[in-house]
Amino acid sequence: MTQFKTLDDLHKVDGGNVHGKVVLVRVDLNLPMQDGAVTDDTRVRAAAPTVLELADAGAKVLLLAHFGRPKGERSSTQSLSMVVSTVESVLGREVMFCPEIYGPVVAQVVGILPPGGIALLENTRFWKGEEANDPELAAAIAANADFYVNDAFSAAHRAHATTEGLAHVLPSFAGRSMEAELVALGKALDHPERPVAAVVGGAKVSSKLDVLRHLVDKVDHLIIGGGMANTFLAARGVAVGKSLCEHDLTATADEIMVNAEKSGCTVHLPYDVAVSKEFAANPASFRVCNVHEVEADEMILDVGPAAVEALADVLKTCRTLVWNGPMGAFEMEPFDTATVALARTAAALTKEGSLISVAGGGDTVAALNLAGVAGDFTYVSTAGGAFLEWMEGRVLPGVAALEA
Ligand code: ADP
Ligand code: MG
Repeated sequence: MTQFKTLDDLHKVDGGNVHGKVVLVRVDLNLPMQDGAVTDDTRVRAAAPTVLELADAGAKVLLLAHFGRPKGERSSTQSLSMVVSTVESVLGREVMFCPEIYGPVVAQVVGILPPGGIALLENTRFWKGEEANDPELAAAIAANADFYVNDAFSAAHRAHATTEGLAHVLPSFAGRSMEAELVALGKALDHPERPVAAVVGGAKVSSKLDVLRHLVDKVDHLIIGGGMANTFLAARGVAVGKSLCEHDLTATADEIMVNAEKSGCTVHLPYDVAVSKEFAANPASFRVCNVHEVEADEMILDVGPAAVEALADVLKTCRTLVWNGPMGAFEMEPFDTATVALARTAAALTKEGSLISVAGGGDTVAALNLAGVAGDFTYVSTAGGAFLEWMEGRVLPGVAALEA
């Protein structure tokens, strides 16, 4: 397992006393906003345990985060000052705002903050050195602090000054949310209980080629659904009508299936499907048919009920599941049926204790919420890009830098 230090280790340094010490905490505050108001505070709630634990131990906590894409320049519409009140209300503490991330103004804030005090520094991407991972910027930020804690897994696929560079200049630790994510992901793919199943769905093969290539080496069952299953079906000679299908990738799909066979991974494709002539919710006519009966003017929009039942049986034989991508066009009823049914099976098996289930991806999380089972999975990652890069088997620079 990947070795990294956690807050438990931080509490042990210097005789176990962070009281009065300055801790830089990288968090994810890239919050969705509408008309100047935060519409979802999930990311703040994810960071709260780490921030409160450090503050309660008497540390002076300096929060670092990026917001939007200001491209290295100050921008009043992308200032983190806009989220201070949200952070305060989630934490239930006063939070001081600092319009800089290094230099004398930050030193002043550190001087004013009492032990246990919390300050939010300005949007790190206002400085060009952030995305360039400039070591001078990292050193300047570090000059005002004693320790660095990274609690932003969702930004760990970027090697930026505050996601990676700081770990090289300060004693570094994973925050609680980062720790939970790394432990869950480790259980899912690095050292899983077998058999392992992966569900990969979503629109296109092209967006998840590296995920599929990596998974066939890692898992025992690869369940392919969603639009991308059509490309695999076409590779097997099935006429998929007007379905979303990347015909130029059928050779790649074949290659993935050959590699799967070589490494003992069973690929599951749907053998019945829900089809419609319209790409719309509740279309006037839709039907379930065998994959070999799709008409030339029909589209495959969901996996069929017989296939879902067979897939549920596969999950029953497995100990671990990793899921990315819906099985159908779940935004349009009734094409959410397969996704919802399989998600409920996975949730029930998890509750029974027979399955460890880890899921991630923007639409996947939305689909699990729709099914009402996100809370029943072992772990649901809200880190979009970082989760996918992890599923591709890539080393995330922000995580690698924390490794002890
Ligand atoms: P995630 O965000 O979880 O990584 P993706 O973005 O890869 O997932 O895929 C989600 C999208 O795939 C959804 O918008 C869904 O409508 C679409 N999709 C799934 N199945 C089909 C299908 N059979 N035909 C067309 N689109 C589909
Ligand atoms: Mg998506």
